[in-house]
Amino acid sequence: MTNKIPHSVFSNILILFYKLKYENPPRCLAVAAIYTRKQVWLSTSLIRITDMASFDFSTLMTSLSAGELPADLPYKEAVLCFTLFMHTFEVYLECRQLVYLRKTSLPAALQGIIKEETFQKSRVYSLDKWNFSMVRSTYSLIEGIAIIWYELLPLLWNWTLVPLAAMGLTADHEIVRSIVFTLVYILITTVIGLPWSIYGTFVLEAKHGFNKQTPSLFVKDIIKTFLLALIFVPILEGLLIPIIQFGGKYLALWLWLFMFSVAIVMMTIYPTLIAPLFNKYEPLSEGTLRSKIEALAGSLEFPLKKLYVVDGSTRSSHSNAYMYGFFKNKRIVLFDTLIKQCEDNEELVVAVLAHELGHWKEGHTVRQFVSGQVVSFVQFGLYTVVRNTDAIFTSFGYSDKPALIGLLLFQFIISPIDHIVGFVFNILSRMYEFQADAFARKLGYSKELREGLIRLQEENKGAMNIDPMYSAYHHSHPPLVERLEAIDMKKDD
Ligand SMILES: [Zn+2]
Repeated sequence: MTNKIPHSVFSNILILFYKLKYENPPRCLAVAAIYTRKQVWLSTSLIRITDMASFDFSTLMTSLSAGELPADLPYKEAVLCFTLFMHTFEVYLECRQLVYLRKTSLPAALQGIIKEETFQKSRVYSLDKWNFSMVRSTYSLIEGIAIIWYELLPLLWNWTLVPLAAMGLTADHEIVRSIVFTLVYILITTVIGLPWSIYGTFVLEAKHGFNKQTPSLFVKDIIKTFLLALIFVPILEGLLIPIIQFGGKYLALWLWLFMFSVAIVMMTIYPTLIAPLFNKYEPLSEGTLRSKIEALAGSLEFPLKKLYVVDGSTRSSHSNAYMYGFFKNKRIVLFDTLIKQCEDNEELVVAVLAHELGHWKEGHTVRQFVSGQVVSFVQFGLYTVVRNTDAIFTSFGYSDKPALIGLLLFQFIISPIDHIVGFVFNILSRMYEFQADAFARKLGYSKELREGLIRLQEENKGAMNIDPMYSAYHHSHPPLVERLEAIDMKKDD
């Protein structure tokens, strides 16, 4: 343990809560009971929702054809109920996963492959993370409900008139007002989130030997992130708000074009301008590893322009590798931790990269980008409907219809669809992972990829026993056991 930070009162309370829960399995159920009570508290809302059963669908069609949503729906209550429903479902999945995390033996497929000591360490780490995430998500739920129920954001929106007046501006200056609102909101959420990230980094991750971040680096990261917001929020909102104000009939198209350009600009400047503010990127030094990677990229006609090593180890000893870039200008970035963990056998790093290049060769990267764009286009179409509906703004406590607030409310309203889209994207991503593994296998890396995946899992102390339902909902990558099985099964063909 390298952690020298004194625990704050807050984290001590958290630890106490942890211990109580950790030593006592039925507490898990007690948490579920609290949600049930909350639902009683919201019973009035539920009654209003059930009123919808007698809802006249022809009104819905009439208002939709006019480009808006019906005026007489309880939007705020519906969003709160959905939030509670999703949370209850997620707690149920967490409880299922807890049963697996408590298992004291490795799954059959990993027995004799993963060292017993490694397994026990990963188990304790996963259980600690489980406890932390339960406390944190309970808190987030209460916070989220309070923000909506007590209409705290409209309060903040109205308050922005104070600094605006100090600048000699009025409510008509919507762009400046939105920028002030966003920056203050970011500041507040950063401060509120601070105890959680401090605990997560300097207590939880440190306890299991992952944290390499110093307090000064931690503070610098936060300051840099906020300074970036100071630069980018005014630029983005200065462009976005006029588009919404004057978008007219083709608003969805303009919004999509704008966000598409932003995505392209960010993809271009992020690696060269922003990422280096947080990490050091150095070209991989000449040597056998470099020539092996170049040979692999060459054999696949991958347009490798730059090969970097990033000092991921200054913050965490979790390891990884990734690639990015447009068309004929691609880069591969390796975490120094990955290289170190595979020091005795470079082929493992090459096998992990063969998997990454598989994603490119099989067109996964392009497909994911395109499907993301299609989803965002559809979302902007739905956004215009939300924006046209005055009832949504009043339901959440706003007296006017600012463009930015429309986007915020839209995120609440779209949430059920977002969950479904996220789930479908997870299914796709898992399919792609199997395909990329199969690609590396076809290049003759089955043995090395197998070994590499096992080693990454060991070093990252990833959970070994995973509930299939939990994994299907949360993970974009299949569990190690399934990946190894797939690699083994196709070994002989
Ligand atoms: Zn992958």
